[in-house]
Amino acid sequence: MKLQKNCLYCNTEFTARATTTKYCSHKCNQRHYKQKQRDKNIEKALSENNLRVLSAIRAKDRGQSVQPVQQEEFLNVPQACEFLGVSRGTLYNLINKNCVKINKLGRRTIVKKSELLNLFEYEN
Ligand SMILES: [Zn+2]
Repeated sequence: MKLQKNCLYCNTEFTARATTTKYCSHKCNQRHYKQKQRDKNIEKALSENNLRVLSAIRAKDRGQSVQPVQQEEFLNVPQACEFLGVSRGTLYNLINKNCVKINKLGRRTIVKKSELLNLFEYEN
């Protein structure tokens, strides 16, 4: 029996030999596994608020060698509020006015510290 399926990773149509086959190739299987591991590491780092690990994962994504990064490069919303000394509402106003650019990691909002520093430069 032959089945036409779409690879879970690259979405290419392929002929599966078994109903349990999910990938067009071993390579895709491996790559998807690595991607899932990476997502898991990000989730874990987020839950622990481990910004050092997050930065390392992001650096790796950009193809850079993993180097010790400043812990405060990325801030979550409460940390960004504290850094600016403003309320959550004020921070979201700044975000809505595009004064502060944010990054989304899953459902979480990550603010780059450099973005917040830019803000002071514009207002001066
Ligand atoms: Zn594939």
